[in-house]
Amino acid sequence: MRETYLKKESRENKQLPKVKINQMRQVNANGLLIPALGQGGWRIGDDPARAESEIAAIRRGIELGANLIDTAEMYGGGRSELLIGRALRGIPRDKYILVSKVYPHNADRNNMFKSCEASLRRLGTDYLDLYLLHWRGSVPLEETVWCMEKLVREGKIRRWGVSNFDTPDMQELWQIPGGKNCAVNQVLYNITSRGIEYDLIPWCEEHNVAIMAYCPLAQAGSLRRMNVDVRTEPTIAAVAQKYGATVMQVMLAFVLKKSCVCAIPKAGSVAHIEENVAATQLEIADEDWGMLDCVYWPPSCKMHLDIE
Ligand code: NAP
Repeated sequence: MRETYLKKESRENKQLPKVKINQMRQVNANGLLIPALGQGGWRIGDDPARAESEIAAIRRGIELGANLIDTAEMYGGGRSELLIGRALRGIPRDKYILVSKVYPHNADRNNMFKSCEASLRRLGTDYLDLYLLHWRGSVPLEETVWCMEKLVREGKIRRWGVSNFDTPDMQELWQIPGGKNCAVNQVLYNITSRGIEYDLIPWCEEHNVAIMAYCPLAQAGSLRRMNVDVRTEPTIAAVAQKYGATVMQVMLAFVLKKSCVCAIPKAGSVAHIEENVAATQLEIADEDWGMLDCVYWPPSCKMHLDIE
């Protein structure tokens, strides 16, 4: 078993526990194994002054086993894919898992193949591990699935999935020829937004579709749900303090509790990615999860899918 220890001096926060990083837990995405913790790519590459820090974070994350990188043709109009392509240069292709997403209006016979080629070019690779429909648009699902399956046959993508699909969308997808080959559903999930626990997570678990949690850190507090700023809310802070962890680590540990869920927090510095990877080792007792449940109630009825 590979064992890596986080270098103490590279952490910003000296409160962090000395966490031993073992082999990253893998999530089964309909036969494709993906790491429980990956890295988000939204807003990466937007600020040239942050580029070197972002590149270093991506490379460090891969070293630590957080080797799934998520991006989209939408992000910065291709800037995210370009920056990620730069970060991956020189790393053997089988050492990371690349995910990109196609705009709904490009997810048809006329545009999807060109979109995929453009993403591959920006990323500097000849295949994607996962290609996702970013959200549902007006193109019939049958047509998008047909294109995805053709891309798989052509070796341009290994597998495909969807994003921002609620349970009825997944049920509809399952009725379409080839629809059952969907490997992941990327959706918003964090402790302040738990609606998918009611029906979508159980449905995906039953059908071997991995949930890829986006905004798992509630954008470090700037994404407000339940009127909560997670940076200052006292219950998470108390649990974090008890375990010598940070609030962001407790946020991640929450999302990673379920075996069919992986998370893709965006980290723009080595310190942040190291802190996030260390969270995969955090074991929080049931009584403390119970305390958090009292503030962040699990859903008791169907809720609308939360979307950012
Ligand atoms: P997020 O991952 O919840 O939060 C990102 C923010 O958290 C950044 O400001 C980052 O700052 C900060 N951060 C990361 N690690 C931290 C740490 N250890 N301590 C303190 N702050 C930390 O939000 P997100 O980027 O919106 O979502 C994650 C990814 O999901 C995106 O990047 C994207 O790939 C994907 N996504 C998909 C959809 C969709 O519709 N499919 C929608 C939204 C997002 P630094 O940059 O300074 O590290």
